[in-house]
Amino acid sequence: MPDANKCIFCEIVSTNRVIDQGNKCFVVRDAFPVTKGHTLIIPKRHISDYFDTTDDEKAEIQNLLMKHRRLLLHCDETIKGFNIGINVGEVSGQTVFHVHVHLIPRRLGDVQNPRGGVRGVIPEKQQY
Ligand code: 5GP
Ligand code: ZN
Repeated sequence: MPDANKCIFCEIVSTNRVIDQGNKCFVVRDAFPVTKGHTLIIPKRHISDYFDTTDDEKAEIQNLLMKHRRLLLHCDETIKGFNIGINVGEVSGQTVFHVHVHLIPRRLGDVQNPRGGVRGVIPEKQQY
């Protein structure tokens, strides 16, 4: 795990990029969004692996996911679905080694054929 002092998510926790926070976690928009509204829920504690989060952190992640799903739907009626994703480990595609949960709004026609969704982590297996 990289030093917390050099971690981008440890750095942004105290900036105006934060759009919401609780005791354990904070929320930012993704800087390189997959779709408009792509949001990250991030524990304040510097740990890399989702499976090392505490029950309290998991509970707050869940609350913030529910809240920001609701807010995104309220603000943008073109959103018709979501993908929720967590990359755990470099082999799975994780690039920032501070736990974060992706909340990705989906809209009709944003890809030609959405069938399979997160199965697309292995592109040739997405559709079945
Ligand atoms: P990962 O691949 O680790 O699951 O996702 C890292 C995410 O962090 C990517 O979606 C990327 O766009 C996002 N990201 C990278 N640098 C920054 C940053 O400085 N600020 C924010 N808000 N998001 C970032
Ligand atoms: Zn960190």
